[in-house]
Amino acid sequence: MKRIWVFLYTLSILLIGVVVAQAQPKAAPITAIKAGRLIDPETGTASTSQVILVEGEKIKAVGPNLTIPAGATVIDLSKLTMLPGLVDAHTHMALTYKERPENDYYYLTYITDSSPLRAIQAASNAIQLLNSGFTVVRDVGNNALYADTALRQAIEQGWLPGPTLIPSGPMIGSTGGQFWPTPEMYKYHNIMFPEYIDANSPDEIVRAVRENMLFGARTIKLCIDCKPWGYSVDDIKLAIREAAKGGCKVEGHVQTPEGAQRAIDAGIYIIAHGDALTPEHHRQMAEKGIFLTGTDTPFTPYRGSEPAFKKTVALLRDAWEKKVPLTFSTDFDYWNDRMKDEKTGEWLTRGDLTIDFLKTWKEAGIPAADILRAMTINGYKAADIIQGRGPIKPGFFADLIAVTGDPLADVDALRSVQFVMKNGMVFKRDGVMVPEKFFHPGPVRTPNGRWTR
Ligand SMILES: [Zn+2]
Repeated sequence: MKRIWVFLYTLSILLIGVVVAQAQPKAAPITAIKAGRLIDPETGTASTSQVILVEGEKIKAVGPNLTIPAGATVIDLSKLTMLPGLVDAHTHMALTYKERPENDYYYLTYITDSSPLRAIQAASNAIQLLNSGFTVVRDVGNNALYADTALRQAIEQGWLPGPTLIPSGPMIGSTGGQFWPTPEMYKYHNIMFPEYIDANSPDEIVRAVRENMLFGARTIKLCIDCKPWGYSVDDIKLAIREAAKGGCKVEGHVQTPEGAQRAIDAGIYIIAHGDALTPEHHRQMAEKGIFLTGTDTPFTPYRGSEPAFKKTVALLRDAWEKKVPLTFSTDFDYWNDRMKDEKTGEWLTRGDLTIDFLKTWKEAGIPAADILRAMTINGYKAADIIQGRGPIKPGFFADLIAVTGDPLADVDALRSVQFVMKNGMVFKRDGVMVPEKFFHPGPVRTPNGRWTR
C-alpha cells in the first residue's frame, strides 16, 4: 500500500508540473521587418534602413540595426517605403447606389437592396479597402440594420480580414433623418428605419445614442440640419455628453452654414462635409481643434463636375491654410459602369476608388507630408484610437503598409501598396492579396439583371 501512496504522490507532482508549464504563456512569434525607408507622418520625415520587430499583434521595437532575435521570421522590405496604415475617416461600406434603376437616388436603394446583402457587400468592401492599405475606417451611417457594427464584430473576432472599423450605427436625426418621408414611410417605419433613428426631443436623443452604443457603435453620428428645425446647440451638447458615457465621440453631418455654426458652438468632435463651411467656420474649427471629414470628391470620368470640383478644391485649400485638423474622407457609397482603369480596362476596386480622392488633395496644392498626416495621424485621432493604434511605436498594434517609391516626394506612390500588415498579421505581400481579382465594387444586382460584370 505504501508504494501506491509514493506512486500517487509522484504522479501528482508530475501533473502539477504539467499544469504550471501549460499556464506559462507561450512567447508570441516574432517578425522582423527590414524597411528601406520608414516614414513618420507626425514629423513628415523619413529614416532609412530601419528594423521593425513585431511580437504577436504589436510592435516590440523600432530602430536602425536592431538585433534580429534567433528564430524570428524576417520580411525584407528594404526596397520599399513603409508607413503606418491609412484611414478613411468617413465612408459607407454597406450602401452602394447606382444609376440604374434608381438614378443615383439613394432612397430607392433601400428598397432594391436587402439588409443581409448589403452587410455581405460591406464585408467585401472591407477586404478591398484593406488591400489598398486602409487599416482603419470610420463607417458612419446608411448601413442598413447595424450591418456596420456586425461587420466590426466579425472582423474583430477573425471571421474575415478588414480594417479596424469605427461604426456609428444608424444616423440620428429629427423626423426622417436625411429622408423626407411620406406619412406611410414615417408612421410605419418600413423604409426609414433602420436607415435613420428619429430623435425629436432631448429624451429621444438620449435614447437613440444609448441604443446605438448598445448595438456596438464606436462613434455617434448626428444629422445636425437635415431639417430646417434641426438640432440646437443644447441638443448637440446633450448628445456629446451622453455619447461620452459610452466612450464615443460625436460627428455632425452639416449641410448649412447655420448648422455648422451650431455644431461648432456645441464643441462637436468632427464636422462632416465641407461644402457648407465658410472661411470663418474654418478659423473657428482650427481654434477649437474640430476635425473635418470634408469628403472631397474628385472630378473623374465616373463622378463629379468641373464647377463642383473647383469649389471642393477651394474649400479644402482654405481649410488647410487655416490649419483645420484635416482627415482623408470619401463618403463613398455609389457605383457606375465607368469605374474602370483607363489603361487596363479592369474594374477599379473600392480601394482604388477610395485612394483616387488624392486627386482633390493634389489639386488643392497641399504638400504630400500634410496629406500623409491627414491620412494617418489625424485619422487615428478622429477615430479616437491613437492611444493604441496607428503610430509605428513600441506597444502599438502593428498596422503597417509598404509602397514602391516615396510618398513624401510623390503622394501617388500610395496607389501601389505592396504590403499590408494589420494586428501583426500579413494580409498582402509582394503586391498580392489572394484572391484579389475576385473582388468587385459593383452594387447589388437588380433582379432583372440590368447590369452585369
Ligand atoms: Zn456620409
